[in-house]
Amino acid sequence: MRKPIIVGNWKMNKTIAEATAFIKEVDPVCHDGATYGVGTSFLALQDAIKNAKNLIIAAENCHFEDSGAFTGEVSVPMLEEIGVKYCIIGHSERRQMFGDSDETVNKKAKRLIKAGITPIVCIGETEAQYDAKETESVIRSQLSGSLADLCPECVKGIVIAYEPIWAIGTGKSATKEDAQKCCHIVRDQIEKMYGKEAADAVRIQYGGSVKPENIVEYMACEDIDGALIGGASLKADSFKEIIEKTK
Ligand code: PGA
Repeated sequence: MRKPIIVGNWKMNKTIAEATAFIKEVDPVCHDGATYGVGTSFLALQDAIKNAKNLIIAAENCHFEDSGAFTGEVSVPMLEEIGVKYCIIGHSERRQMFGDSDETVNKKAKRLIKAGITPIVCIGETEAQYDAKETESVIRSQLSGSLADLCPECVKGIVIAYEPIWAIGTGKSATKEDAQKCCHIVRDQIEKMYGKEAADAVRIQYGGSVKPENIVEYMACEDIDGALIGGASLKADSFKEIIEKTK
């Protein structure tokens, strides 16, 4: 039985004070129907972890090296020290604007797993790839690169977020049929790489314009175990509605 996992990705939003106010309001309404959480800026992580009793707090990136001449970066041991347990990696914005690739995502995943931090590995096709009907090959190739050479036992614990790039922040969400089909391809690719046990255990999120109005239909899909939510996770009311609807 896979426990659903619904995570807000705040991106470069919310100061420490804003994050604290949100967590104080939302944390008490979390329930056992799913694991709920938010990804915050590096700066807000420490206070968020202290304030959250129920929400899990995720970093939104990390570097794969432990230390060194990487100005502006944050390493896994730094996250570990403040008690981070989840880290989003390979988000399409990082792939498109900050040079993340399957190879660096793979290095980050390995380093996080070694630290006992759960990676939330993001993949997804661009609009041009979708139009060219390349979605399946893109998903398979991103997974083979991003999840190369992990132990099958470790793969069971990770989270994969399938996010078609054309649906992120556009209000244009994938149909539930398309989202299910793609999350099924993700599970099938994991089975090819790491076997059925790993594929059955891994949790797969859909992301891309998820909101209170459509969360229930995605969650009803067989291979969708949760959501990674940008815009609709920023307002406490809308995230609380998502929590209420997934009881
Ligand atoms: P969105 O963002 O929900 O605003 O589309 C999703 C994401 O970027 O993870």
